[in-house]
Amino acid sequence: MHFLSLIEAKRDGRTLTASEIKGIIAACTAGAIPDYQLAAFLMAVYFRGLDKAETSALTIAMRDSGEVLHFPSDPRPLVDKHSTGGVGDKVSLPLAPLLACMDLRVPMISGRGLGITGGTLDKLDSIPGFQTTLATERIVEIVQNVGCVICGQTSRMVPADRALYALRDVTGTVPSIPLIVASILSKKLAESLTALVLDVKFGAAAFMPDVEKATELAQSMVTLGNQCGVNTHALLTNMDSPLGQSAGNWLEVKESVQCLEGCGPPDLCDLVLACASHLLVQSGKAASLEMAREQARQCLASGKPRQKWDEMILAQGADLRAFNQKLKQEHTTPVIVEVKADRGGFLSRCDARILGEVIRDLGGGRIAKDSVINFDVGIDGLAKPGQKVSPGSLLARVHASNRQQADVAAERIVSAFEVLPTPPTSKPLIVSSLTA
Ligand code: URA
Repeated sequence: MHFLSLIEAKRDGRTLTASEIKGIIAACTAGAIPDYQLAAFLMAVYFRGLDKAETSALTIAMRDSGEVLHFPSDPRPLVDKHSTGGVGDKVSLPLAPLLACMDLRVPMISGRGLGITGGTLDKLDSIPGFQTTLATERIVEIVQNVGCVICGQTSRMVPADRALYALRDVTGTVPSIPLIVASILSKKLAESLTALVLDVKFGAAAFMPDVEKATELAQSMVTLGNQCGVNTHALLTNMDSPLGQSAGNWLEVKESVQCLEGCGPPDLCDLVLACASHLLVQSGKAASLEMAREQARQCLASGKPRQKWDEMILAQGADLRAFNQKLKQEHTTPVIVEVKADRGGFLSRCDARILGEVIRDLGGGRIAKDSVINFDVGIDGLAKPGQKVSPGSLLARVHASNRQQADVAAERIVSAFEVLPTPPTSKPLIVSSLTA
């Protein structure tokens, strides 16, 4: 194959055949295409796009570039959720054990933080002893025995995405809808799922700035996911302000445990129940969304998912005693600073982008690929939009490694909030849902 002629074809707007795309991914996986040519190809795709058939061929070729998980036959359907990422988005943590308690199996292959959006694996790394790198056989074993696992993709899964994503990251070609669709779905299809729910976020701290672009991405993933035999549904959710009241790796684990113990923030619990309800319906475990939600609500209230969480983290190497002790600590950083309102009124804005940047700069996220993360820094006690505040009311608490960093962060956090004399119009968290 002459890769140059395929780059030229895409540059000139020609539609590639499935076999050409398969050849490109095979060569890319084998390391047979130099980075400069792959980068040129990705840029051509960025500008020319891919049609439905090309996107489908790319997704399937990427899925098949490595190992696909195989599970023993079992009456419990295999399900998962994927979020396009946001600040404070910790839904996966309480959701996986909740689903496992409702006779579903959850092989949740997750990722690390990208930009200012947190990553599930980084959050889990804040748990003493927890292992996010597992061999394929162990992933299957934990799913079969516990019902859920949350870990990283093995070195043998979807290698083509690893190669392409690393290049996209440094060539300005991440925000291409067909490339995002292929990247996300190839990994989810490699889990051999029955049903998938996608949480596609839009807003200040999301990948997709507006609801129109988010809808386009969601529709494309829903159509292709269903075509590939996975019952796929998408929720469009607002990411202008953080989800829940905590953001930062350890603080989010703590808040997830609160959700499992029935005392989590309402928006987080609402989204967890919404994802669970859709998956119950999609996998044929409930006849309607209303019935599914009631089932999920009762299950969460039973305390079983909280026990399942312990079972899952224990299976993944966590030191349960150290974890429970850490949970009891009021804070795990040397310094805490409170940010307070300087006037009374109604909170009209709590900007997730600013807060995400502050957490990253405190050391909670990556500035460079090899940045070392401080899992304990972050923000909690966040006031929520619509909340009535008085002068001196708590808006947020900063958890930092030292006083200087805490003071800088606190000053920046003030600019994330806006207090107005009248209540803002309330924005729904879930604005719509898309099915095939
Ligand atoms: N997440 C992914 O896994 N891939 C993308 O391309 C974007 C977000």
